[in-house]
Amino acid sequence: MKTKISGQTKLYAVIGDPIAHSLSPVFQNHFIQKRNIDGIYIPLKISSNSLTSSLQLLKDNFAGFNVTIPHKESIMQYLDEIDPLAKEYGAVNTVKILDGRLIGYNTDGIGFSRSIENIDIREKEVLLLGAGGAAKVIAAEIIKLGGKLTIANRNVDRALGVRDELIKLYDRPVQVIQLNQVDRLFDIIVNSTSVGMYPNIDDLPISSNIVQEAELVYDLIYNPFETKLLKSGKKFGAKTINGLPMLVYQGLKSFEIWTGEVAEDREEEEIYKALSKYIR
Ligand code: NAP
Repeated sequence: MKTKISGQTKLYAVIGDPIAHSLSPVFQNHFIQKRNIDGIYIPLKISSNSLTSSLQLLKDNFAGFNVTIPHKESIMQYLDEIDPLAKEYGAVNTVKILDGRLIGYNTDGIGFSRSIENIDIREKEVLLLGAGGAAKVIAAEIIKLGGKLTIANRNVDRALGVRDELIKLYDRPVQVIQLNQVDRLFDIIVNSTSVGMYPNIDDLPISSNIVQEAELVYDLIYNPFETKLLKSGKKFGAKTINGLPMLVYQGLKSFEIWTGEVAEDREEEEIYKALSKYIR
């Protein structure tokens, strides 16, 4: 537990609304303490209405902050500089404050790609469930890694919007389908909808039969630790990955952007284990 805070202590935060259940403070402070860094990372509830009025306080007092729902897109208008990758995704999840300037980055894509770095998805048929903020980033990464992408969403127009942006950026074919009309099998299934998240842990975004031939079932959700979708994948013999590795990798990448401190593999592993225990 951090007890020594001085005027020199560097402040980091995650801003969003709701924010009370964020896991970022848990693992970022774990890393800060293990590395003996004079810093602290706190959750800050900032509503859509108070984002503008909160920025000066953040600028004057913090060294960096993470950005989550609902500010990932709206924060962009206030930034002095935006990293090309964040521009490409149209969303920022990390802000570094340097000499009073706000510089935006996005580490979600790196987090996702890192979490599947041992899996070759080239030419694999990939079904991405969802077309929200996270889906856009994941879709871009799947395309860049060479997967053949199909997006399934409840609101098809939203998915078509994401498809158009992706085609403009990467000039690769993307299929779109209504979520409840998925009727063929895929090599890889990634859930980026919030269906199955606590407390609705018995919900499935698609029929469990769709996962029967999948070699990998990935769910961005980490609470519960194993969603019903992941349980179905496991039952059919698929490799399964939950949302924790992505969360940890994106967060540690943010910390690296703020401080230059690069987490070692064993530290990532230790944080992952501590968080898994914490959630369970
Ligand atoms: P978002 O922008 O609000 O998008 C939500 C998505 O879920 C949309 O595709 C939405 O479909 C779909 N959805 C919601 N309720 C549904 C329902 N009842 N039936 C079918 N579809 C439904 O949220 P987001 O930021 O993309 O986040 C999505 C999920 O990813 C969340 O569970 C979040 O916790 C998780 N996430 C995890 C990480 C990580 O590091 N592990 C990072 C980011 C996000 P419509 O478009 O039809 O409404």
